[in-house]
Amino acid sequence: MTKRAQNNQLTGKYEPVIGLEVHCQLKTRTKLFCSCPQSFAQTPNSNVCPVCSGAPGVLPVLNKKAVDYAIKMALAVGAKINPESVFARKQYFYPDLPKGYQITQFDKPYCEGGGVRLAGGKYIPLTRIHLEEDAGKSVHSAEGTFVDLNRAGIPLIEIVSEPSISSPQEASEYLKKLRAIVRYLGICDGNLEEGSFRCDANVSLKPKGSKKLGARCEIKNLNSFRNIEKSLVYEIYRQADLLDAGQRVAVQTRLWDPALSRTKAMRDKEESEDYRYFPEPDLPRLFLEKERVSSIDASLPELPDAKGERFLKDYLINYEESQILTSDRDLASFFETLVAKRSESLPIPLIARWVCGEYLREMRADEAWTLKNLRVPGDKFLLLLECVAQQKISQRAGKKVFKLMVAEGGDPLDLIRREKLEQVSDKSIIKKACEEILHKSKAQVDEYLSGKEKVFAYFVGQVLRQTGGNFNPQSLNEVLKELLQEKKKQ
Ligand SMILES: [Zn+2]
Repeated sequence: MTKRAQNNQLTGKYEPVIGLEVHCQLKTRTKLFCSCPQSFAQTPNSNVCPVCSGAPGVLPVLNKKAVDYAIKMALAVGAKINPESVFARKQYFYPDLPKGYQITQFDKPYCEGGGVRLAGGKYIPLTRIHLEEDAGKSVHSAEGTFVDLNRAGIPLIEIVSEPSISSPQEASEYLKKLRAIVRYLGICDGNLEEGSFRCDANVSLKPKGSKKLGARCEIKNLNSFRNIEKSLVYEIYRQADLLDAGQRVAVQTRLWDPALSRTKAMRDKEESEDYRYFPEPDLPRLFLEKERVSSIDASLPELPDAKGERFLKDYLINYEESQILTSDRDLASFFETLVAKRSESLPIPLIARWVCGEYLREMRADEAWTLKNLRVPGDKFLLLLECVAQQKISQRAGKKVFKLMVAEGGDPLDLIRREKLEQVSDKSIIKKACEEILHKSKAQVDEYLSGKEKVFAYFVGQVLRQTGGNFNPQSLNEVLKELLQEKKKQ
């Protein structure tokens, strides 16, 4: 890392300008132009036919489902769908590209415009979305490099943002939002590690306040949110150091090396003329009729933004919680199941607070715990929350019980009994404990009576320590105040 990247100080001189290109593998049953199945982690070269392995003389046939999925995405981000678009050949040589070209869309994509709103309100506009086929994969090992064509021909949409992202954090937030949308739509797994959701980042710096963009670098090989943020931070400071030293930033494609935490030059960046695009002669123009688009529009699920607004309005939870709960479709439905199953007396904001807090914290600490494979099932969790809401146990005791439920499973009521965590609201019991403490703390009582009311907290602390902390805090406060009041009168 550069010194400055380590210190994370960008002088006020430059503004980062970031644009992202995101490739999403569409979850269709078969590939984009042939009937080979697409599935992750198959034996290499087992899902391959003459079309996707580039045999001469074969003809591509467009996958209708892939087009429907692409339309869904365009509608979800409020983009304009072109009624007529064209597939193009992008020529380049690479061992995992058997035809020597990729079928993509170039000057006439099916979709333009649209955008995504971030939690803070900033709108990131999109340039375009286009449909294309994926390339195969080169697998490097000690024995050599192998080519696996299982991925060749899998349908992709490429989502291109305008260069209007201004920080690594914003880039990460934008990607998470896009991923939430494709998952809500059910068109892509959104799995960065497995490569079904991939991102390249274009980064440049411009002098603060200037409109003119600087020379940009493209960073590839970003396969986790963490790497994306780290690589952008690194690249921003690398460019700033060059500019400060009076040097030029070379227009390059750079590769992120997660082991060394740096980007390194891979090649000079190609411009589009290098690819010699021309319309794909084996495919007709793509016509998207109004009826087809509107029937897909009618089938769209409720999307994160709309769901978030509904949660705010219907459940009276706070904005931040509404954003967290709707960031994932499964999480939102887990929360809504809890809401539907709760008893009337359990306030919804309490459920939201516990799901966003304790539940997610424990879940994220355990890789095997997913929303499809719950370690603490919803009904047990609700039972615990009921106890907290009815003040059977304190919040603190509730957290302890939840930890036990995570560690050993079991029923919250049994655990509360076993650990003797039930909150005591019986004032006669509380009074007895308080009287003992006040009796033992003559000096502090005198202080209190002389006007130092802060000592009150000391009494509370002492009583809780002596009794194991199970007293209802409100009752405890009341009883202590009454006893001290009596002493004042004596
Ligand atoms: Zn095939």
